[in-house]
Amino acid sequence: MLNIKDKIINLAHNKVNNNILRKKLIRPDCCYICNYKTKLHGHHWDYSKLLEVTWLCPKCHKMVHKRIRQMKHNILTCTDKEFELIIKMFRERSL
Ligand SMILES: [Zn+2]
Ligand SMILES: [Zn+2]
Repeated sequence: MLNIKDKIINLAHNKVNNNILRKKLIRPDCCYICNYKTKLHGHHWDYSKLLEVTWLCPKCHKMVHKRIRQMKHNILTCTDKEFELIIKMFRERSL
């Protein structure tokens, strides 16, 4: 059984997929963090903003979620400042 958080996440993913299908949302080619060209995942930093996603490759997406868990963040709310911090950390590490 899905808890409320999972339900929101599912809803957000469906919303993104529907909008890609209707061409309202463009899926870029390259990962926002590492620039790797692959089929990207849309990552939500704030599930209250369903169409604001960052496009990440599966590897970076997994790392972001691991990092968020380590930081004991509630993935439902991540401020712009925290978002920039996490992106910065990943970019510095991949240099
Ligand atoms: Zn990547
Ligand atoms: Zn994600």
